[in-house]
Amino acid sequence: MPPETVEVRRSTRRRRTVSAYRDGDKTIVLLPAGLSTTDEEQWVHRMLDRLAAKEQRRRFSDDDLLDRARELSVRYLDGRAVPRSVRWVDNQQHRWGSCTPDHATIRLSARLRGMPAWVVDYVIMHELVHLLVPSHGPRFWALVERFPKAERARGFLEGFSMAANGSPEEC
Ligand SMILES: [Zn+2]
Repeated sequence: MPPETVEVRRSTRRRRTVSAYRDGDKTIVLLPAGLSTTDEEQWVHRMLDRLAAKEQRRRFSDDDLLDRARELSVRYLDGRAVPRSVRWVDNQQHRWGSCTPDHATIRLSARLRGMPAWVVDYVIMHELVHLLVPSHGPRFWALVERFPKAERARGFLEGFSMAANGSPEEC
């Protein structure tokens, strides 16, 4: 990817709102006038991150999730887990994923959106294995471990949870 061209526009009419959008190959960040240089830099970074996260969300629609789940099942579970639906949910604060084996449906916490793809894949994998093995016994973990980055993904999520508990997310 070429380096991003960012254009910052300040407006005296804008008091508190900031926003960012893509315009061709440029990214426009709208800021209120009167911010200090440090604040301005922080806001630009924050808005670029937020924009990128929003774009990633759009890339991973529910349909995409189902496709990925099917791929993961074929690749690591010999296609034995057959999910019927995989979708994002907003009302799941304490668990990253959940499933209903009887209906072969999987739900993922929207908090995973914007995380690296291999982390999302790990949570999908965990729930896929639940479609085959309900409890967290040795058989369950042996299947989950077929996903090469399982341990790394668990570490990533644990680190994320600890950081989030220490300082609740802004905005
Ligand atoms: Zn589980």
